[in-house]
Amino acid sequence: MKKGRLIVISGPSGVGKGTVVKALMERDPRVRLSVSATTRPIRPTEIDGVHYYFISHEMFEEMIQKDLFLEHAQYVGNRYGTPEGPVDEMLEQGFDVILEIEVQGGLQVMQRRPDAISVFIAAPSFEILGGRLRGRGDTDEEKVLMRLQQARMEYLVAPQYQYIVVNDRLEDAVSDVQSILRAEALKTEHQQHLLKEAL
Ligand code: 5GP
Repeated sequence: MKKGRLIVISGPSGVGKGTVVKALMERDPRVRLSVSATTRPIRPTEIDGVHYYFISHEMFEEMIQKDLFLEHAQYVGNRYGTPEGPVDEMLEQGFDVILEIEVQGGLQVMQRRPDAISVFIAAPSFEILGGRLRGRGDTDEEKVLMRLQQARMEYLVAPQYQYIVVNDRLEDAVSDVQSILRAEALKTEHQQHLLKEAL
C-alpha cells in the first residue's frame, strides 16, 4: 500500500488553522490529525486523548529522554510534542497525517523529515488578525497584544515553509490546501511508475 504524507500546518493564534484542518478532514477521509502531548492545563471543552494527551512535566521529560517525540517545543510557558510512533503507524496505513503545530516544532519536522509538506496559514492582514483575536471575547487587550507579538515571531519563520495559504474565506483556504496536496501527488518523483513501462 502507498504510504501517506506528512503535512505540517502552522500559523498564528487566531488565524483559524484548527478550523481549516477540521474542514479538510471532513472533505478528505484519508487525512488524519496527530494528537499531541502537552503540559498545559485542560480546557473545559477539551477531552484527554482526543484534543491532546494532557501529561505532567515529569512525564513529558521522560518522553524526551526515551526519544518518543518527532518534535517538541515550548509555547507561552507550556510544552507541546508530537509522539512519533502513532504518526508513523498512520503513515504506514496510507493516511496523510497533519501536524498542527507551532513554528519551532515545524522547523524540527522539516529537518528530520525532508519529505514533509509544510504549509503556513496566514491572516489576510495583521489588522484582521487582531480583530479576530479581540472578537473571541475571552481575551483581554494585554493578551491580544501578546498573541500579536507571538504572531510576528511566527511570521519571521514563515518563509521557511513551502507554502503560504491565506485564510480569508474558509472554503478557499481549505481548497488551497487540497490543491497543494493534489499538486504534490502529481510531482514527477511520485509518478515514475507511469514512465517505467515505456522505458
Ligand atoms: P493551544 O494551547 O492553543 O492548544 O496551542 C498552542 C500552540 O501550540 C498552537 O500554535 C498549536 O498549533 C501548537 N501545538 C499544538 N500541539 C503541538 C505539538 O505537538 N508541537 C508543537 N511544536 N506545537 C504544538
